[in-house]
Amino acid sequence: MSENLVLFDAHAHYDDERFAEEFPGGTDGVIAHVHENGVCGIINIGASVRSSRTSLALAERYDFIYAAVGIHPGDAQRIPLGNDEGAIAEIEAMAAHPKAVAIGEIGLDYHYDGTDRERQAWFFERQLCLSEKLDMPVIIHDRDAHGDCFDMLKRHPDAYGVFHSFSGSAEMARQLVDMGWYISFSGPVTYKNAAKVKEACAIVPEDRILVETDAPYLPPVPHRGKLNHSGYLHYTAEVVAELRNVTPEEIAAVTIANTRRLFRITE
Ligand SMILES: [Zn+2]
Repeated sequence: MSENLVLFDAHAHYDDERFAEEFPGGTDGVIAHVHENGVCGIINIGASVRSSRTSLALAERYDFIYAAVGIHPGDAQRIPLGNDEGAIAEIEAMAAHPKAVAIGEIGLDYHYDGTDRERQAWFFERQLCLSEKLDMPVIIHDRDAHGDCFDMLKRHPDAYGVFHSFSGSAEMARQLVDMGWYISFSGPVTYKNAAKVKEACAIVPEDRILVETDAPYLPPVPHRGKLNHSGYLHYTAEVVAELRNVTPEEIAAVTIANTRRLFRITE
């Protein structure tokens, strides 16, 4: 139905090697494809010092791509001990780039065994402080760590931004919205067993909701198991619209406006 819905993908990883290896035409091929199919903007997300650098390189090459620079909790654990301050300094330097629009993705991820929670928390907090110092929005990655993420944000009331690929409850969404946060929904909102996320999606105020792919991860129904890209974002937007009793075009318009407002992107 809405193949040509115009959308802004608030979270994607086009620096991921899977695009270069698996998509016809590689990274440039997939970016051209999604842009031709109605994607008017993309925030490409850094997860490490290296991928923050490649995010900026993509943003330099394409006028409709913007970059977030930051260290993901999973990647934080791979930084050699003693290089912590150096890594934060590199993120700060990259954040000054004119196409860097956010610090992210940062946060806590307790999904895997052997998680170094202290080290994750250190990087999370240092990057939150950086966002406050630079007055930039942050992109939060919170996987199985809702309570600790919440506590951290309560200690940093000046930080603002978005919870990406939201997986919490409606109650948590409501609290975050009250604290000024935006909430972003991705492929899982289309999954049959995602009752909790669907419920949260229905109650987020119109001026606080974003949509994203998290490509190449989390493909929406009916493309589960495939390489995800922004050309599939309309499936997510259609489900979001249905849950909120509005048209896909209305969701497209409000999420574009919200993404531009949060990341201070002017046309
Ligand atoms: Zn991501």
